[in-house]
Amino acid sequence: MNLYPSNQSQKEILVIDDTPDNLRLLSAILTQHNYEIRKALNSSQAIASVQAEAPDLILLDIKMPGMNGFDVCTALKQNPITQDIPVIFISALDDALDKVRAFSVGGADYITKPFQEAEVLARIENQLKIVELQGKLKTQNEALEKSNQALEQFAYVVAHDLQQPLQSIIGYAKIIDLKYSEILDISMKNYLTKISDAGGRMQFLIRDLLSYALIEKGGIEFSKIDGNIALKQALNNIDFLLQASHAELIYPTLPTLFGHETQLIQLFQNIVGNATKFSRSNVPLKIEISVSQYNQEYWLFGVHDNGMGISSENLGRIFELFQRVDGDGDIPGTGLGLAICKKIVESHGGQIWATSKLHVGTTFLFTLPIVQGEP
Ligand code: ADP
Repeated sequence: MNLYPSNQSQKEILVIDDTPDNLRLLSAILTQHNYEIRKALNSSQAIASVQAEAPDLILLDIKMPGMNGFDVCTALKQNPITQDIPVIFISALDDALDKVRAFSVGGADYITKPFQEAEVLARIENQLKIVELQGKLKTQNEALEKSNQALEQFAYVVAHDLQQPLQSIIGYAKIIDLKYSEILDISMKNYLTKISDAGGRMQFLIRDLLSYALIEKGGIEFSKIDGNIALKQALNNIDFLLQASHAELIYPTLPTLFGHETQLIQLFQNIVGNATKFSRSNVPLKIEISVSQYNQEYWLFGVHDNGMGISSENLGRIFELFQRVDGDGDIPGTGLGLAICKKIVESHGGQIWATSKLHVGTTFLFTLPIVQGEP
């Protein structure tokens, strides 16, 4: 019974075995099942054959004079052109088959002699399927990467080009308000205020979209940044929020970091700014920043607040683009702040996550690499 579909006919298998009888037997089985067969009787023939043209799969005998199967496999896996070809080892039942070694040198599977035809075919089919799926995944990933880049470029261009006309709309609304103040009635003034407010919200959205799109624009030089200066600048930038929320803010001395200063400032600014925005009206706000060593290679930063908290079902979404989960929608924001933070942390080689309890508080945690030899 042929268990294998007809499109197998294109697949080419290189069988490497120093015993001509084995080669003949395997070739007969595989040819019957529509595989194209190439044969090699020793390691040097095998390597020359693979380099001349890469087969889809290799069946490789372990015990051969000179270079054995493990050595051949090691050589193939070291070469970027041949490293992705799946290698199935063949070993006689009385050989001590070192299975661990077979996998550690890059083998995909192994078969023991005497062969069972169905097993040989199933193992080959299995490996070819894996290669095919990996290829599909790679192509899809590349396509996704490309479309993400295109989208980011699009967001950047749109956001950038929207700035100017928006500025004009807001500007003219202001001029009308100032110049014709005496002849405007209340409802006209209300409309103008609405134009200005909507324009202001759009300016924030554009600003955040541009920051998001710019993070991975490449060519950004990282340098040593004093964490204390970055934090101080961030707190300065959101001074109005800190003042308005009457927040008690506690923070330690921060280490030197390696990164992009504006982005690191934005990271602190967004997270501490959120703590002031999503506070509870009847609870004095306390924000505590902490830093400790994590896994020898990273600093672990924590920003803890006693604000409104986030429910567990919403917690998983907050780092996604445009996700706002506060419910009442009264708190200003674009839903981009944490997506920006995630991108910044990841582009600096770290990770970010949060823990939270509704009506109790939230802790944002992120890691950043330790700069060796720096406090
Ligand atoms: P924005 O602040 O513009 O709404 P973010 O991306 O910064 O967008 O945050 C996404 C959502 O996560 C917020 O809308 C809010 O619901 C929630 N959130 C963020 N930080 C906190 C916090 N410290 N406490 C409670 N909820 C928060």
